[in-house]
Amino acid sequence: MKKKLLMVALMSAAMGLASCGQQAASSDSHASVSEPVGQSVESKESSAIAEASSEAHVHLWGVPTYTWSEDYTECTATAVCEHDDSHVITETVAATISSQQPASCSEEGSMSLVAKFDNDVFGTYTEDIALPKVPHTLTDFDYKWNYDHTKCTAKAYCTTCDDGVEETVTAKGVSDASSAPLKALSMRASFQTVGFADQTFDLNIGGYLSDDEDSYIVCSYPDKLVPPTTFIPSSVDDLPVTEIAMSAFDQKGVIEVFVPASVTTIGDEAFAYCEHLETIVFGGTKAQWGAVTKGNRWSYATNIWEISCSDGILYTEDGIEANWTTDFPTINIGTDEWQVQNEYYVMGILGEIESDKYGNCHLRMRDGSSIYLYGIRSADDTLLYQNIPDSQKPKKGDVAVFYGKIVYYNTTLQMTNARVMQLNGTVLGTLPQE
Ligand SMILES: [Zn+2]
Ligand SMILES: [Zn+2]
Repeated sequence: MKKKLLMVALMSAAMGLASCGQQAASSDSHASVSEPVGQSVESKESSAIAEASSEAHVHLWGVPTYTWSEDYTECTATAVCEHDDSHVITETVAATISSQQPASCSEEGSMSLVAKFDNDVFGTYTEDIALPKVPHTLTDFDYKWNYDHTKCTAKAYCTTCDDGVEETVTAKGVSDASSAPLKALSMRASFQTVGFADQTFDLNIGGYLSDDEDSYIVCSYPDKLVPPTTFIPSSVDDLPVTEIAMSAFDQKGVIEVFVPASVTTIGDEAFAYCEHLETIVFGGTKAQWGAVTKGNRWSYATNIWEISCSDGILYTEDGIEANWTTDFPTINIGTDEWQVQNEYYVMGILGEIESDKYGNCHLRMRDGSSIYLYGIRSADDTLLYQNIPDSQKPKKGDVAVFYGKIVYYNTTLQMTNARVMQLNGTVLGTLPQE
């Protein structure tokens, strides 16, 4: 191979000395032609890649390129002279189909195309072309959103091939420009599969552009009921949602709200007086939640007890992990229904377990009732709470029975002789009798 190429080079150099207008000279030498899989080029052995130029050299035609027209009815071959790339030859011929396998909705088809060129440089070119699958004939459409409405799955059934067809796409937040200035927000899912229709989920919240128009601020939408579970999109019209507006959901009936990781600011009283609001599901990490700028009284008079983050759950609204504190002497009961009883059992799933800055331990039941523990001792009343092994301490998710007597102390209901125990009878802790 090296020898052959060298010959061409030497011969071309010699021809390069020929004067303008010299006749084309044929040569047995030809450049090697690499043949891609599925393609072949037949050039006659005598066809000279190198031939005398009408100018000062013999053309050395490079490997031709072949291009089919979009409808595969024509083929154009092009070759460029390796000595002077302004020397280009091209030829277009009609293509013929030598064989064809039509595509179906389950399999690709193919066809073999042949193009015969007059110029020996190009020869006869053949190529196998894959024919893309044709669309399914779909029926029985079914569209389902995932829980946080970030994805939508479309399913259908093909009457031709009997296959089930499924596609899941990531939905995008979009605004309804016609509802300006406050734009109604929704999620839109657009599918690639031919036959699946775009799906839209109305979020029933509104949004507006920030002052610099590079992000969205969301809020509740006037005249629309904010759903108990409210989803805030991470982007609207391809701009990130970075802020929940001041008083955005003030006094709304939301119970659970999905806040995307794109949110970095929660305005003053954004969720104030959402008395049913229990859970915030945050798309980012605990650290990111802690870094969110939170306005004054943003969660005032809510019942938030859980901030669910991508890497775990926080039990304090400002992003600080709950901590047990020690030395709690009594229990306070705050709900009215217990006031009429002198001795009671109450059972529930432990929710929030946190300590406040005064050192009080606060247990909140998942049903929203609250029990404030100011102190707790081990079952045999010999250990302070701080000395109870961690495995025996009540934790979130435990089913606990609170048993005891209640007494009034000043105007505060207090509990004496209470125990927190799991349903299987394991006593998690007890209070000393006064
Ligand atoms: Zn040339
Ligand atoms: Zn099909």
